[in-house]
Amino acid sequence: MHELPLTNKILETAIDFAEKNNAVQIQEINLLIGELSDIEEHWLNHYFKYISKDTIAADANLKITRVNIKWLCLNCFFEFRGDKKSDKPPKCPKCQETKNLELINGREFIIESIGII
Ligand SMILES: [Zn+2]
Repeated sequence: MHELPLTNKILETAIDFAEKNNAVQIQEINLLIGELSDIEEHWLNHYFKYISKDTIAADANLKITRVNIKWLCLNCFFEFRGDKKSDKPPKCPKCQETKNLELINGREFIIESIGII
């Protein structure tokens, strides 16, 4: 279970941000998570509810947006979407390259924004 330390980190970051901005409450936390990440949203929400009680983030909504897998072909510089749940290089649909491909989206774990009042 690596969701718990991650959830801790999210909460810490959000509270730190809120305190610096003199907020009284954290309303929502928007997360960007790559499709290749094996983070389970169910556990994130579950842990968040548990560790955020008695903090200013207690009623905050965790909003999760999944980021599509995207590859860049280093041969012809064509960008294309990859299959879900595979980090194995596919074939470039434009030039058929199979080796010089770089994963440019799909592994992110980013706090995009934090809603405070
Ligand atoms: Zn190509």
